[in-house]
Amino acid sequence: MSLIKSNLARIRERIESAARRAGRDPGTIRLVAVSKTVAPERIREAVESGVHILGENYLQEAQGKIEVLGAGISWHFIGHLQKNKAKYAIRFFDLIHSVDNLALAEELNRAAEKSSKIQEILLQADLSGEATKFGAAEEEIVPLAEGISALKNLSLKGLMTLPPFSEDPEDSRPYFRKLRLLGERLAQMKIPGISADEFSMGMSGDFETAIEEGATLVRLGTSIFGPRPPKHSVFA
Ligand SMILES: *Cc1c(COP(=O)(O)O)cnc(C)c1O
Repeated sequence: MSLIKSNLARIRERIESAARRAGRDPGTIRLVAVSKTVAPERIREAVESGVHILGENYLQEAQGKIEVLGAGISWHFIGHLQKNKAKYAIRFFDLIHSVDNLALAEELNRAAEKSSKIQEILLQADLSGEATKFGAAEEEIVPLAEGISALKNLSLKGLMTLPPFSEDPEDSRPYFRKLRLLGERLAQMKIPGISADEFSMGMSGDFETAIEEGATLVRLGTSIFGPRPPKHSVFA
């Protein structure tokens, strides 16, 4: 068995037991294989081992891979997105995890309308209170969702977060829990056209904790493909 294949088998077991521990159906948790810096041949191995969703951080890099690997894969954008790149994101991605301001949402909506597409998105929340990373502050999420409600070519599905880096997965738990509660609050508001059932949270170091706290999309890179070159660390 190849390393990627055995990594995936192990990850699937871990997802399943974390779900069962939390009394959740493992079928409600989707694996996003994060393939930034990973060459197409190695991505293909993951796809042949049953990966359906690939997450990419850089548009140009992703575009090349999408051309080579073709259809049959659902591509998710998980990196920082600039407004002037909105039309490329619309063209290639089924779900954009990282929308964090209304100007970007409006640009995505315009591009989606031109392509006659309903673009699914998540709002990225920065719950660290440090305002050092990308993501909207907690108190900006509801107004942002209200703004997006008026944008007919965007479909808001839920929330994403990236906690401050730590070796200890327990350090991420409060952020995951906060995201979940924020999503529940959003869902209760019944804003037209907005749902908040998807929670994109958890990476290689803390995905089991995220699942215990309600993750529906876990984003795993190194635990599938192995270490990346240093300049492409998580926050790059
Ligand atoms: C790189 C990256 C991941 C994957 O991180 P790993 O620790 O390799 O699993 C997940 N989410 C985002 C936003 C990333 O940039």
